[in-house]
Amino acid sequence: MTESKTENLDVVVIGAGFAGLYALYQFRDVLGLNVRAFEAGDGVGGTWYFNRYPGARCDSESFYYSYSFSEELQQEWTWSSKYPEQPEILKYLEHVADRFDLEKDIQLSTKVVSAVFDEAIAKWTVKTDRGDTLVTQFVVTAVGCLSAANMPDIPGRDDFEGVSCHTGAWPAAGVDFKGKRVALIGTGSSGIQSTPVIAEQADSLTVFQRTPNYTVPTRNKKLTPEATAWIKDNYTGIRELTRETAAGFPYHPIERSAFDVTEEEREEIFERLWQEGGFKFMWGSFNDLMQNKDANDLAAEFIRKKIREMVKDPVTAEKLCPTDHPWGSKRPPIDTDYFVTFNRDNVELVDIKEEPIEAITPKGVRTAKGEYAVDTIVYATGFDAMTGSLLKIEIEGLGGQTLAEKWSAGPRTYLGLQVAGFPNLFTITGPGSPSVLMNMPVAIEQHVNWISDCIQHMRDTGATRIEANLDAENKWVEHVNEAAQATLFYEAKSWYLGVNIPGKPRVFMPYVGGGKNYSDICDGVVEKGYEGFELAS
Ligand code: NAP
Repeated sequence: MTESKTENLDVVVIGAGFAGLYALYQFRDVLGLNVRAFEAGDGVGGTWYFNRYPGARCDSESFYYSYSFSEELQQEWTWSSKYPEQPEILKYLEHVADRFDLEKDIQLSTKVVSAVFDEAIAKWTVKTDRGDTLVTQFVVTAVGCLSAANMPDIPGRDDFEGVSCHTGAWPAAGVDFKGKRVALIGTGSSGIQSTPVIAEQADSLTVFQRTPNYTVPTRNKKLTPEATAWIKDNYTGIRELTRETAAGFPYHPIERSAFDVTEEEREEIFERLWQEGGFKFMWGSFNDLMQNKDANDLAAEFIRKKIREMVKDPVTAEKLCPTDHPWGSKRPPIDTDYFVTFNRDNVELVDIKEEPIEAITPKGVRTAKGEYAVDTIVYATGFDAMTGSLLKIEIEGLGGQTLAEKWSAGPRTYLGLQVAGFPNLFTITGPGSPSVLMNMPVAIEQHVNWISDCIQHMRDTGATRIEANLDAENKWVEHVNEAAQATLFYEAKSWYLGVNIPGKPRVFMPYVGGGKNYSDICDGVVEKGYEGFELAS
């Protein structure tokens, strides 16, 4: 515990990952406010600090999965490859913290435990687990959408005598797999990235799969000096395009249905994008894959065909073929050598729909068919997404209502930016905003800029308090639901819907309306004098 102190601030930022670092920079250095950021990790980086599992890398290309706010920063930083690994992204974020002298206003190794709004003074009192008390006009959460690790409540979990680790809370000292028998539970993006790397290091790897997943090759490659020079020369256009597109990628969308072309042309397009690798398979192929099940089936079948070609054992191949949800209705992973890893002699796939996990024993994993003795268990079991990290903090708004009470039937926000009943609280990439359906840095910068402009507007006009209007919030929640229901996203048991967490309300949390459309809506709200918000002095 550090010495207890009370500070008066303009803004408390919670988190020092991509969102928190930029928020601190923007509020402190651009607006000139008195800001302090609190970060649970012992270093900055958020997601990229905690997700150190083997094989962790970014699924968006480095030159656009990065900040755009500083021309100097983007010119001086050079990415090694298209899809850099976690250490390089963490180094980038550490560089940003250092370059903009952010660390002096970040308190590391500190969790914010509560924030209570005092209506009389229109300020928040924020408390941390290290005994700090802060009185602040604004609280801005930058807690990340995927940061509350989900450790499944499997009987006997704590009795395991070996090493257990979660991909999203990976030990900083690393985990040594050499000579070890390893169990890996979960085949989402994290499990799919770590499987090939662990398989190479460990004596044996047993992958426990509940739902097979579609994944497309990453095809990572080094960025040549010529490619880097081109990127640096063209950053202005690249960044503009990321703000003009639905998913925040700097590529023009394809205006073509899967049924606008012949079968041969369709195969050729899928094959070309499969060879190119990455998310282009989704947004560079056809524009109706997430709306039209028949179109989606074609992409899904193409991927299943590839799985059957790559995996030698036909029984294992069939187990790896997803059939219970449309492709893309769960966040699609991209991979490096995932499927071919199941051709290795030291790798086994266990389908836990066939043989459910009954318990973790002191020696390993017991399923309905028997015990798998292992030395290490890797939980690649995902996150309590979008709301988990926010609800860990005791946030109390008007009339003593907590955020947990307000969201007991699922998150409710206006634009994913504010919650009615919680004035002067802003949620960067909060539920109800495009957030996880976008290239995150683009979503983050748009939110931070909007909040920053809003605070500046309040200063200019003498307003001290802003709160989302309940009616506007209700209409936005309705719009978010309707937008999702018009897509195939509803057909999967995904973390987008909260289905992965037992007891969590089933509500589609991100806004599927697209980044550009959403930012236009946010701008329109400002043009209409912060329509849907109540500002007061
Ligand atoms: P995830 O996608 O939620 O996958 C979790 C996996 O664990 C699923 O296969 C799930 O099975 C399984 N699982 C959960 N609870 C289980 C239980 N009790 N018993 C057995 N299996 C269980 O989590 P993630 O892989 O960590 O990825 C989460 C998100 O983080 C991604 O979708 C992505 O947005 C982000 N991410 C990004 C990157 C990147 O960009 N580089 C890398 C990793 C993660 P079911 O499918 O049956 O629920």
